[in-house]
Amino acid sequence: MRPWLVAGNWKMHTVASEAVSLARGIAEATSGVKGGEVVIAPPFTSLVPVSQAIKGTHVKLAAQNLYFQDKGAFTGEVAPSMLVDAGCEYVIIGHSERRKYFGETDESVNLKALKALASGLKPIVCVGESEEEQEKGVTQFVVGMQVRKALFGLGVLTAVTVAYEPVWAIGTGKNATPAQAQEVHGFIRGLLADMFGAGAEATRILYGGSVTADNVADLAAMKDIDGALVGGASLKSDSFSSIISTVAERRTA
Ligand code: PEP
Repeated sequence: MRPWLVAGNWKMHTVASEAVSLARGIAEATSGVKGGEVVIAPPFTSLVPVSQAIKGTHVKLAAQNLYFQDKGAFTGEVAPSMLVDAGCEYVIIGHSERRKYFGETDESVNLKALKALASGLKPIVCVGESEEEQEKGVTQFVVGMQVRKALFGLGVLTAVTVAYEPVWAIGTGKNATPAQAQEVHGFIRGLLADMFGAGAEATRILYGGSVTADNVADLAAMKDIDGALVGGASLKSDSFSSIISTVAERRTA
C-alpha cells in the first residue's frame, strides 16, 4: 500500500500569526496518525514562521507555486532555492487557479515540475477538467494530455505526486463521487504506467475538490485514491485533522 498523503492548500488565506496557530493546531491534533504524510501549504509570507512552528513535528511544508528559474530579474517570483531555504519539502504546481487566473500552461507546469525535482523539492502536480469538458465527456482526453505534458521529460516518477482536481469540484461543494474519481485515478495510473513503467504503482494520486470530513472516507476507500488535496476544509484545524485521521484509518486498515 502506498503511504497516504493529505495536503492542505491555504491559498491566499492567513497572515503569519494565524498560519502559525493553525499549523500548531493541526500538528497537535494529528500527532498520532500513522502510515502517511501531512502537508500544509501556507502563503509565501508565512512559510518561514510556519516552518519554525512545525519543526520537530510530523507536519511537512509545501509552497503553493514556484518559478522555474534559479535567480534573476523576475520581479514577484520565488525561486526553488528560496523555498528549500524556507523549509519546504513539497510544492504545489499547476493548481487550476494558477491556470485560470495567472496564465499557467501545461508547458510552464512542466518546466516547474522539472525545476522542482532538480532543486530537491517534491512536486504535487495538479490536473483536472473543467465543467464543460466533463459535460462533453472528454475528461480522460483532457486529463491525459495534462499529465503527459506536465510530466514530459521526467526520467523517473520518484518524488512526484499527482493531484486530480476536477475544476467544477474546487470550492463549489460539488465533489466527484468516489466511483467517478476512482475511474479517473485508475486512468491516470494506467497512463503513468505507460509513461514510466513500474514507478506508477508507487506514485501517489490525490483527489481534490470539496473534500470534507464527511465525504473523505468513501473517497479514501477507493483503490487508486491515495489521499487528498484540501482547500477550504484545511483552514480549520478540526475539519482538516478529522480528514487526516479518516484517511489514515482507511488507508492503513
Ligand atoms: C484546492 O484548492 O485544491 C481545493 C480542492 O479546494 P476545495 O477543497 O476548497 O474545493
